[in-house]
Amino acid sequence: MNKLSLNLQILVGTITGVGLGWWMSKLGQESATAQHALYIAKLIGTLFIDLLRMVLVPLVFTSITVGVANLRLHKQMNRVWQFTLLYFIATMMIAVLLGLTVANLVQPGSELQVAMFQNEMQNFQATQMSLPDFFAQFLHSLFQNPIAALAQGNILAVVIFALLLGIALVVGGDRYRNVLNLLQEFLELILMLIGWIMYLAPVGIMALLMQLIATQDLSLLSTLMQFVAVVLGTTLFHGMVVLPLILYLFTGMTPVTFWIGAREALITAFSTSSSAATLPITLRCAEQQLHVKRDVAGFVIPLGATMNMDGTALYEAVAALFIANLVGIELDLVQQMIVFVTAMLAAIGAPGIPSAGMVTMVVVLQSVGLPIEAIAILLPIDRILDTVRTMINVEGDLVGSVIVHHIIDSKENYANDALLSKKCKNS
Ligand code: ASP
Repeated sequence: MNKLSLNLQILVGTITGVGLGWWMSKLGQESATAQHALYIAKLIGTLFIDLLRMVLVPLVFTSITVGVANLRLHKQMNRVWQFTLLYFIATMMIAVLLGLTVANLVQPGSELQVAMFQNEMQNFQATQMSLPDFFAQFLHSLFQNPIAALAQGNILAVVIFALLLGIALVVGGDRYRNVLNLLQEFLELILMLIGWIMYLAPVGIMALLMQLIATQDLSLLSTLMQFVAVVLGTTLFHGMVVLPLILYLFTGMTPVTFWIGAREALITAFSTSSSAATLPITLRCAEQQLHVKRDVAGFVIPLGATMNMDGTALYEAVAALFIANLVGIELDLVQQMIVFVTAMLAAIGAPGIPSAGMVTMVVVLQSVGLPIEAIAILLPIDRILDTVRTMINVEGDLVGSVIVHHIIDSKENYANDALLSKKCKNS
């Protein structure tokens, strides 16, 4: 199967999935045909996600360790770290600022009465999580016995261990090249497995989208129309204007070239609502389609999938303002700044799984004294909103990897050119 035909198949799978989902929702939940079809879709969709999860932990472990260890080959090693972190923080800040600005202008939720949602809120039990608790828990989850972290799929702890091991390999140097070679070969094998899993992508994506469209209750979406419009509008603006503009300014790559290269990952993120599950495909797109060096992609993409979440940060901020409007609390400038910071922290701390942002949103609401039960209002529509924010989260990682690759490459070429001209002069 060549590359073009796989892309084409994914496109056909996407359209068919949406079409079938729409048809199933017309047939209704009671129809036997719909029930059978949805059962099969669930089996296939779950199988696809399970396969991606199967390779996730070994992939994250090997790609970060090998990525960091090989960064020593680049003269710009420090720059990779610095640019990556700077890019993550800066783009998340822009996303939250964008969300807060538009939410302040539109004031979603001010026309609704909180009493309308009394039922949902009464039946909802949120776990209390204050900012200090959240921070302590976050810090605790960073450092774990690596075997336990690998076995339990605690991605953040795996990332940290892999980073440290990678640094140790850099410091240890040539003496440990056997370990590095072994990990490198293991990574290549995992990438081969991902290539095989990709054959299932068109059907997997079709099944997931069919299920998603068929099982959504769209009535609440229209009640919360204004909020949904602000969230989707700003998130899409961030993904279709802000990120491509940053990419263009730094690398000269046009949005169309980028989207063509990134589409497999973006569609998978949309249909799985999980940046972690999408990670194997994101890495593949970065390397094979966007031509990011493996070492750079292997470092930026897994790290980004766990901590760089523009869509989530934006969502958390807009949702906090929406809830404040709904319960009639006006957030002043200082409180909005607290929302700004906590939304970013909550996004960094959210794992890349469906609706993770909803869980960490408790922190944002509590930091400014908003009722956490109000999350119950947003839960029923979260599956839909999660699709777009996950897609933008993944887009942010891919854009970051291309920018970092470009910066390193041009600096290295510049350094090589300077060296060459110096040699020429001397000779
Ligand atoms: N589902 C998102 C992701 O995987 C996280 C979130 O719930 O915002 O990136």
